[in-house]
Amino acid sequence: VKFKISEIPRISARKVGVQLPDGLKRYAVEIAQKLEKNGHEVLISGESCFGACDIDLNLLQDVDVLLHFGHTKVVELDRVIYIPVFVDYNPEIDLDIPEKKISLIATAQYCHKLPEVKRYLEGKGYLVELKKGSSRVQMKGQVLGCNYTALRDSQSEAILFIGDGLFHARGAAMYTGKKVYAFDPIAGKLEEVDVSGFLKERYFQISRCIDKKCVGIIVSYKPGQKRFSLARKLRDEAIRMKINACIICVDDLTPEKLYNLPFDFYVNTACPRITYDDFRNFRKPVLSPTEFKILLESESEIFIDEIE
Ligand code: SF4
Repeated sequence: VKFKISEIPRISARKVGVQLPDGLKRYAVEIAQKLEKNGHEVLISGESCFGACDIDLNLLQDVDVLLHFGHTKVVELDRVIYIPVFVDYNPEIDLDIPEKKISLIATAQYCHKLPEVKRYLEGKGYLVELKKGSSRVQMKGQVLGCNYTALRDSQSEAILFIGDGLFHARGAAMYTGKKVYAFDPIAGKLEEVDVSGFLKERYFQISRCIDKKCVGIIVSYKPGQKRFSLARKLRDEAIRMKINACIICVDDLTPEKLYNLPFDFYVNTACPRITYDDFRNFRKPVLSPTEFKILLESESEIFIDEIE
């Protein structure tokens, strides 16, 4: 995969922090050397970095400016500069699907070419919708694992997701209820997304919590994931339904952190990917906020968990 790291902006700050997601950490030395040549002292974050919601706030205290690579802004933070990284790919996608009205979406690394993809597909006779979502996303068509607002009020018959993996494509299918095609431009592979197995699994996880009487509601300190008011509402609703509920605060949510806690199950208000992708790593069931509401009977169907 060819990454194109955007220009590092000229900054006057002396002490510069560098934060990279795991997939880009191998560029740390190259980036540090560039910055040092310009007279900066560089401190590199060794912490996790799952998204732009995951800013190294400790490092931020020790530097004048923090450069956060690989993601676009999801929350406004003073002294943090976001430097997106793009994957180079051919926007001429040979699509052969029956639907003619389609919405285009992608993850941040693939969004820069969506206008070109749109033009190409329109030249092939498709009607293409490409819209920007809420302020949590920065580019047209951009989706996050926790935000599909680029598809709000979509008039299309189907969605075309460009990127790697099926997580976001599945989220888009849940969000819209429409047919979603996932195209990986590096592998050159097009797949139709099926959410039936995912839904079955989620209802199974809800069923594991029936008659359980003690729930831990998890909140993360990460600036773009912190949903205290939602956690408080869920706790109060649980208590009204005679379920013991406490709020648990963590930075990274890992299974080990929950080992010694005495709860029967958990509700995760931190990154939704943990609930959907990592739930098997946890000994006790982990539900999304909506799934918990289904358990409490205040909601009747599963919606994808979104952070606006
Ligand atoms: S909360 Fe999760 S899905 Fe949303 S931006 Fe952060 S890492 Fe990505």
